[in-house]
Amino acid sequence: MYQISRCIFRELEAEIVEDRQRGAGSTNRERVLRACETAVHRLATDRHYFAHPSRTLFNDIRAYFPMSAQLHVYRVVDRYLTFAGEYLASRPTAALELTGRRLDCRATTRKGTPCRRMPLPHNGYCPSHQHLAETEEVTLVAA
Ligand SMILES: [Zn+2]
Repeated sequence: MYQISRCIFRELEAEIVEDRQRGAGSTNRERVLRACETAVHRLATDRHYFAHPSRTLFNDIRAYFPMSAQLHVYRVVDRYLTFAGEYLASRPTAALELTGRRLDCRATTRKGTPCRRMPLPHNGYCPSHQHLAETEEVTLVAA
């Protein structure tokens, strides 16, 4: 899965504009790679609160590309992140495989502690907290 960030990077690498002054600090290539990794990691661990992954990553890295490459950059980012999102949604164990840590249900129990049950991949709530996903959708529509 983290290969996805490398794939994005590899497709875009040639078009990255480098700073002319090579001083200390990271280069634009490193910044782009790190931004891709961050986005894929966030998608894997925090997908339900990550509203616009493609737009977010594109905004993070667009400054490192020339105007003429912007559309291509967005298309590459969107293609891979859409694929990653669908993969994560289709496999309950994907996040565990990727991060080594199990995801918990997003709900809080009546005692006020986080619910530790295994969430369903499509909305991040365990079977007993599915009703929360419904109210959430209503809130989103109303907002
Ligand atoms: Zn739950």
